[in-house]
Amino acid sequence: MDKIVRVNMFDLRVSIEEVPATWAQYGGRALTSTIVAAEVVPTCHPLGPDNKLVFAPGMLTGTTAVNAGRLSAGAKSPLTGGIKESSAGGIAGQILARLGIKALIIEGVPQQDCWYRIHVDKDGVEIQEEINLIGKGNYAVFKAVEAELGKKCGCLSIGPAGEFRMAAANISVRDKDGGVRSHGRGGLGAVMGSKKIKLISIDETGSEGVKVADPEKFSAAGKIFAKSLVNQPGIEYGMKPLGTSMLVNIIHGYGALPTRNFRDGQYAKHDMVSGETMRETIIARGGQPSHTCQPGCVIHCSQVYPDKDGKTVTSGLEYETLGLLGAACEIDSLDRIAEADRILDDIGLDSIDTAVGIAVLMDAGVLPFGDGDSVLRLLKDEVAKGTPLGRILGCGAATVGKVYGMTRVAAVKGQALPAYDPRPIKGIGITYATSPMGADHTAGYAVGPTLAGVIDGHQKKGQVELSRHCQHVSAALDSFGVCTFVDMAVGSDLECLPALVNMLNARFGASKTAEDYLLGLGSYVLKTEHRFNINAGLTSPQDRLPEFFSAETLPPSNTVWDFSDQEIAAFWNF
Ligand code: SF4
Repeated sequence: MDKIVRVNMFDLRVSIEEVPATWAQYGGRALTSTIVAAEVVPTCHPLGPDNKLVFAPGMLTGTTAVNAGRLSAGAKSPLTGGIKESSAGGIAGQILARLGIKALIIEGVPQQDCWYRIHVDKDGVEIQEEINLIGKGNYAVFKAVEAELGKKCGCLSIGPAGEFRMAAANISVRDKDGGVRSHGRGGLGAVMGSKKIKLISIDETGSEGVKVADPEKFSAAGKIFAKSLVNQPGIEYGMKPLGTSMLVNIIHGYGALPTRNFRDGQYAKHDMVSGETMRETIIARGGQPSHTCQPGCVIHCSQVYPDKDGKTVTSGLEYETLGLLGAACEIDSLDRIAEADRILDDIGLDSIDTAVGIAVLMDAGVLPFGDGDSVLRLLKDEVAKGTPLGRILGCGAATVGKVYGMTRVAAVKGQALPAYDPRPIKGIGITYATSPMGADHTAGYAVGPTLAGVIDGHQKKGQVELSRHCQHVSAALDSFGVCTFVDMAVGSDLECLPALVNMLNARFGASKTAEDYLLGLGSYVLKTEHRFNINAGLTSPQDRLPEFFSAETLPPSNTVWDFSDQEIAAFWNF
């Protein structure tokens, strides 16, 4: 039977609770945001005893459904000061779900000045003191847990960034091959660090698996859903061979690649850091151009990037990292970006906030644009060691901007913008401005419909409505536990959404409609999060983009951010 596991770090006590009836229908983001909104005082200090860190597998996570293995983490964010949900791949979500854990709630801070490890298996949850792995990077932690529990173990951990409680620290998730995936945004690694938890190891042995109310109906719908994803042209010819890195050339072509700290929409050397070049490089070196982070994935957005000698450098090198370290910082070397990605994964720091922070440091004259070697030194010698400069960068782009007195800082609610300039893709700008998460492309990906020609990204008309629709869908998909790319098939194949709805109904023995799931659940999640943020002090004036987007036109489209306060505030009229 599903259960709620509550871990109190103040008195090192674990309690197992029944799932309240009102929580039973939720999972993933819907559940983490419900719990955080219900149990966390909105005005509390994010690193203090009153904040809670909640993990919840998605509603379909751990079942046989393809691309349904996501885990949500939630808390009050040290980066934004508002509610945060961050979804990750890897295998921890699937294992927690199969162990019957609906949510793991970690509360309080320890009385003793020592570090802990939490171990989860079929027999329960144990808190142990951790000594040997303190100060170590995530790769070493995963290796140690793998040596102890075997190659199928799950692990959630923080690197030095989380131990230092840097506001952009992430929580790392072991993938099926021992690589690093991340609850990357919002500084949840700092919350885990404040509770003095270095790692959570998870052993699936003997688990009962996820209960499905109607297995036959689930299996029939699951087959249609899988077929729909496999046959979607954007997935088959784009995501599978290139992953999200296919976007480097596409977003350059659209004029929204945030070059030289968001001064230009096109990067002359885009091809040197493009998905096509990365694929050729990987194949020539004997790496894996197409890879999965968990069992049951048919999309394969990941890859394994090797160095010149064929040794693995990193896996899951995404468009955001390429677009920001590449165009925004003008680093034209895939090898240096891959090395930076590996270091960031190892120390456990968000690559988006760090890359935008580095672009701000470059603007401030701390290091030159394009100097990849200095970036690697900065990460290894400053951030990983927790020097004052390293801690400033580790607290994200907004902190870097404040410390260096810079105004060209691409961040909303303290969280850095991903690699899409909002001036020529205005719908994503509305998402950046209004999402309860702070600037986050995954919170409402208005980029997809813009690239598909459904809307003209340069014009204001219809962008608020588009972002509202995308944010509802994202909130729902994050709650289902499916990869965000599923949206590509939901939007283009008439069979995909009904199959997804049938799986959800079969899983829970429900008879809801697509509208109930996408708009009803999405609306509930957004309103719950928005209410928390208002009570935390994040009100309408924080729903704004930085001034320079309105003051400067972006070449080559010569677009400008031109939404009035009233037009942005209208987003919440639902
Ligand atoms: S699509 Fe990407 S994120 Fe989703 S399961 Fe596959 S590899 Fe992981």
